[in-house]
Amino acid sequence: MPADVLVLGAGMVGTCTALQLARRGYAVALVDRRAPGRETSYGNAGIIQREAVEPYAFPREWSAVFDVAFKRGIDVNYHFSALPEVLPRLARYWHASAPARYAPIALAYSRLIAHCLTEHEVLMAESGAHDLVRKEGYLNVFRTPAAMQEAAARAARLAKEYGVRHALLDGEALARAEPGLRQRLAGALHWLDPWSVSDPGALVARYAKRFEALGGQLVEADAASLRPVGGGWEVRMAGGPLSARHAVVALGPWADALIAPLGYRLPLFVKRGYHRHYRGGPGLNLPMLDAERGLVLAPMAQGIRITTGAEFARIGAPATPVQLAKAEAAAREILDLPSPVEAEPWVGNRPCTADMKPVIGPAPNHPGLWFNFGHAHQGFTLGPASGRLMADMIEGRAPFIDPTPYSASRF
Ligand SMILES: Cc1cc2nc3c(=O)[nH]c(=O)nc-3n(C[C@H](O)[C@H](O)[C@H](O)COP(=O)(O)OP(=O)(O)OC[C@H]3O[C@@H](n4cnc5c(N)ncnc54)[C@H](O)[C@@H]3O)c2cc1C
Repeated sequence: MPADVLVLGAGMVGTCTALQLARRGYAVALVDRRAPGRETSYGNAGIIQREAVEPYAFPREWSAVFDVAFKRGIDVNYHFSALPEVLPRLARYWHASAPARYAPIALAYSRLIAHCLTEHEVLMAESGAHDLVRKEGYLNVFRTPAAMQEAAARAARLAKEYGVRHALLDGEALARAEPGLRQRLAGALHWLDPWSVSDPGALVARYAKRFEALGGQLVEADAASLRPVGGGWEVRMAGGPLSARHAVVALGPWADALIAPLGYRLPLFVKRGYHRHYRGGPGLNLPMLDAERGLVLAPMAQGIRITTGAEFARIGAPATPVQLAKAEAAAREILDLPSPVEAEPWVGNRPCTADMKPVIGPAPNHPGLWFNFGHAHQGFTLGPASGRLMADMIEGRAPFIDPTPYSASRF
């Protein structure tokens, strides 16, 4: 039976898009080559980042650029082999990060992220997923008073401009809040609004279950088989073709592979990230960013998950977990970590755009084709809000926020 909409990609973004459409009565097929939530949306730090009103800009100070170029910190690494392809896109990222260009980008981003908690809440309640969520915020911990002061000043500005809430903890208060820490640190910034999830892949799976309960179809197929047919779109699955009037590309880091052959040259790239779990130590109550080292420690169902910053590499290039090794050493300075759970670290790809905003809207040259990808560092946060915006546009309803800043035509 034909569907109304094919959603390609069952990560957080595609699953939420499919669910938002199914909630409105559309017949939706959610297409993936794997089970829902097994790729990037599985391996992230699990933080629903209400505080992330300003997306990650490329550093503008030359000292920071040199740190990246000479791989001085833990937070950035790159493969030389990826540079010819990625450097022109990074140049555009750097350009977009200049203060005057960045200000409207952050404003647009903040308007979407403002809805992340309310939209997740609706889907969590319907999916019976509250057992996976902790609504107690997230910590940025600091080793030096200078770094803490700088972060506190920024947090005060964000509170004033965007209303995101925080509290400051001195070293003693932090030690009380997180008794597992083995070192007295300078203190912490406690973002009060964010939520954290103990198993990010499981949350996507719950949303997918809810989608099925509403009559949605999970389909195993290769999205690369997508082709236009008679005013609609079709994918090939084992049992034959499946067609629909609309198709949504929600393939996260793999979106470029599908849309480039259709003639779209969007400035997309990936920032790879690694994770590994450590089980059996004293543990943590809340996820924490070790801001001066550039790693996150997140308490998960599987143990403490250490996640790393950005690695510029091709998707599928061999893993080079040098950042994870350094992150593990830095983490052991502040927390007792028993041996790792997995023999090999997990690696995933944050789907990024040169101007830091996701692409949400119609494909400019193909009627019935829609884009919803490029959510970079906050796709786990943004899935439900982004899916709602996509559903508004497909339905032809007045969108709940202005979609213009996310249009694919902006590039
Ligand atoms: C280390 C790390 C930490 C992070 N921490 C956070 C965080 O704390 N909070 C946050 O909000 N975000 C975080 N992120 C970012 C977030 O994980 C991503 O933005 C988000 O998962 C992207 O979701 P997606 O649905 O677009 O992509 P994905 O989850 O990758 O989904 C894409 C789907 O497309 C499918 N697919 C691809 N090609 C094909 C094909 N040819 N045929 C069929 N199916 C196909 C894949 O199987 C996959 O299921 C983090 C990312 C990393 C790497």
